[in-house]
Amino acid sequence: MRRGSWKIRIFIGLAIVAFAFIQKCSNTEKNPYTGRSQHITMTSDQEIAIGLQSAPEMAQQHGGLYPDQQLQSFVASVGNKLVQNSIAKETPYQYNFHLLADEQTINAFALPGGQCFITYALFSQLNEAQLAGVLGHEIAHVIGRHSAERIADSQTWQTATMGATVGAGDMGSIVGSIGQNTLLKNGRGDELESDELGVLFMIQSGYDPYEMINVMKILKAAGGPNRTPEFQNTHPDPENRIEKIKDAIEKYKN
Ligand SMILES: [Zn+2]
Repeated sequence: MRRGSWKIRIFIGLAIVAFAFIQKCSNTEKNPYTGRSQHITMTSDQEIAIGLQSAPEMAQQHGGLYPDQQLQSFVASVGNKLVQNSIAKETPYQYNFHLLADEQTINAFALPGGQCFITYALFSQLNEAQLAGVLGHEIAHVIGRHSAERIADSQTWQTATMGATVGAGDMGSIVGSIGQNTLLKNGRGDELESDELGVLFMIQSGYDPYEMINVMKILKAAGGPNRTPEFQNTHPDPENRIEKIKDAIEKYKN
């Protein structure tokens, strides 16, 4: 191999890494609903399309929709009340609230663009205000565009990792692990942002925001072998979340 070729390889590698970050900066925009600057590579229409497209598959993974139409309507009415009384109403997203048949897994989640889900296992443990807390938290994931942000981040890291791999074999895994950590760190931020907005939406709809603390206690008690994804190690410590929720209540009440 010629002496100069590794230099060219490193140069190309660095150029690809630089490209990834320049692209990231040029795709940074301020979220008009949260005020936070974030890296996004898709439009709200694309978010809605992705959410609608993946909703049936997500529902299927949790045994489909719960068959009782009255309970479905109740979940939808609580969700829609939160939308109508908050900034969610001003967003382009299409909110739908679904009760999933799954009676084993305590879970709730939101797809980009407004499709929100709660399992029967979690729903059955909540009163109306606590349900509002969970749905408010999920609405906040949609408004915060957290899925779109995670997707954009992983695209950046894929490009950067490719650049580093071209530059030098070993560097690839180092950059890869930085990417992982970045995703995890942002994940914690997503949960705290959603908890805070969830508290705000509860207050705006006339629900007792302290019930959000009880939601955390219910989720914590449900921990153990079948821990809910809201409490995996990628997420903030429950006690830490409760402290931040108390701060949010102080900030928004009155
Ligand atoms: Zn969450």
